[in-house]
Amino acid sequence: MYWDQITTKGFLQEVVGRVDTAILPVGSIEAHGQHCPLGTDNMAPGYFAVQLEKAYPDRILILPSVAYGYTPDLSVWPGSLSVSASVLQQYVQEIGQGVVRWGITNLILLNGHGGNIGALQSAMDTIAQENARVVLINWWLDFSKQILTITQGQGHAGEDETSVMLKVAPEWVHMEDASFNPFRPRYRVKGPGLSDKSLRHATTGDGRGATREKGEKIVELVLKELRLLLERLWNDDLFERIDNH
Ligand SMILES: [Zn+2]
Repeated sequence: MYWDQITTKGFLQEVVGRVDTAILPVGSIEAHGQHCPLGTDNMAPGYFAVQLEKAYPDRILILPSVAYGYTPDLSVWPGSLSVSASVLQQYVQEIGQGVVRWGITNLILLNGHGGNIGALQSAMDTIAQENARVVLINWWLDFSKQILTITQGQGHAGEDETSVMLKVAPEWVHMEDASFNPFRPRYRVKGPGLSDKSLRHATTGDGRGATREKGEKIVELVLKELRLLLERLWNDDLFERIDNH
């Protein structure tokens, strides 16, 4: 179900007391290399959410996306829009608190943008105090190990993200403009003049090796992992036992 397609009467009859899980896609509007659309970070999680809804139409609610994120480093590129981290945190936090108020006890923040992570972690801490379980999924990080069995590298508008876009929104990708950033920072560091190297061409990694076939495989594995997450949430199976070698 989609939160914004139900009437208030329908919400009372079909959701309250029946559906306990919601997904909030969160993204960003920002330059993605020279070849991917500004809304890339919304399109990828948005696509995952649509597919999950098809798999569990009666068990999950998809919330309208939070489309604007915290992206100061990419603000210099034409078309990028950034909101401050504190605003994003407060906004997501209040949306989450509102969602929980209507009986949702499992909230998944399905994030598409690295710059949002700090704000979302703070927001989830507060939402979780409302007696809800909040999961933050950063698909390219959480499933990185599996993704790297498909692509040689990862990156912002890099091989993995571009491949996903070739699967979910190929009409907006211009592979002839795909680029390679030969620099990778050794540390998490910011400072004057550093972003030219860390985000050269508004890219990290190499978007040139992306293909639709790789994108299909990544989408498939991300969806498999997200379905597993939902099942684990519902089965209260969020921890694994680690052997003490
Ligand atoms: Zn992105």
